[in-house]
Amino acid sequence: MTSALFPTFARADLAFERGEGLRLYTTDGEEYLDFASGIAVNSLGHSHPHLIEALTEQAGRLWHVSNLYEIPEQARLGERLAAATFADVCFFTNSGAEAVETAIKTARRYHYAKGKPERYRLITFEGAFHGRTLATIAAGGKDKYLEGFGPAVDGFDQVPFADVEAARAAITDETAGILIEPVQGEGGIRVVPNAVMRALRALCDEHGLLMVLDEVQCGVGRTGKLFAHEWAGIEPDIMAIAKGIGGGFPFGACLATSEAACGMVAGVHGTTFGGNPLAMQVGNAVLDVILADGFLDHVRDAGLRFRQGLARIVDTYPGVVDEIRGEGLMLGVRCVVPNGDLIAALRDQQVLSVGAGDNVVRLVPPLTIEMADIDLSLERIEAACAAVAAKEGGS
Ligand SMILES: *Cc1c(COP(=O)(O)O)cnc(C)c1O
Repeated sequence: MTSALFPTFARADLAFERGEGLRLYTTDGEEYLDFASGIAVNSLGHSHPHLIEALTEQAGRLWHVSNLYEIPEQARLGERLAAATFADVCFFTNSGAEAVETAIKTARRYHYAKGKPERYRLITFEGAFHGRTLATIAAGGKDKYLEGFGPAVDGFDQVPFADVEAARAAITDETAGILIEPVQGEGGIRVVPNAVMRALRALCDEHGLLMVLDEVQCGVGRTGKLFAHEWAGIEPDIMAIAKGIGGGFPFGACLATSEAACGMVAGVHGTTFGGNPLAMQVGNAVLDVILADGFLDHVRDAGLRFRQGLARIVDTYPGVVDEIRGEGLMLGVRCVVPNGDLIAALRDQQVLSVGAGDNVVRLVPPLTIEMADIDLSLERIEAACAAVAAKEGGS
């Protein structure tokens, strides 16, 4: 079939018309369990009543006014995010890549404001993913995403994954900071060990560098803490978030301490759409749910139960999957077979998942997933592994 769309996506032959919680329904009425969550975006599942109420109520009042004016809904969300985190100030964007771009610009402007404009480089890590803009593909450093797009934006020095000594060795008089995902998402659900996060924080303190986190995928409750860096007991200077904070409404944010954001003065950065009332009211509604007592306990409990079930499956089908990775409800299984084979077998069992680097299949359900649905999905995941194993054995 010809299409009027850029052919940049390898789309599955599935189209959905309705969703409820963990479940998605296709245009021809089939039901799927959604362990993709639109790539860790639908943090509260589909059609969450509180989000529908917030969106429709705001839609009937006001959608967009511009940052030329006060936006009370934005001010409120900024205050709530600041109160819940290390941050003092926030800048709202429309996407994750823009949030990371803002984080990069904030780090560079900090040193500029301190009279050290030559300190503009960020140390990054192999396997990283920071978005698809020109700066964020340079930060990610993956050749496949850089190829054919002209000279890469300068200012990123990549070192091996979680390698503190390599990071130390990469520091020069031009280094502004360290940019890292506490849990790599696209890279294959690779958790940076807590000790490494702490060592990188110490390295930043020692050298006057800014610690810049990309929690676009692992943040907002996904790992069972509000933000993944909390597991290491450290605080960054700057952090990009997106995906889960909108629950499906596209927006992101760059959070920072007032010190780290000291260069971001009037006029140096901007956005037309970022932080509009519609997005902000959805974000406030997402926070209502995620910050409620017991919510993150549920994410941790559900994650543990899911992980234990997956561990049994790994033991039973060592020829199909060989490792479980992640934290909370940001889990991945590394495959022995090509990960696409397992993704296809899961789809045959009406379970949606997402591929990742390192031959991993990501399992990132809504954080609201019920225990009974964890058990149901484990049965289907096991059946998918059995089907893959039977095919492997028969070939
Ligand atoms: C998805 C993602 C991004 C980019 O977000 P977009 O909204 O697609 O621009 C950046 N960093 C991480 C860690 C991501 O997972």
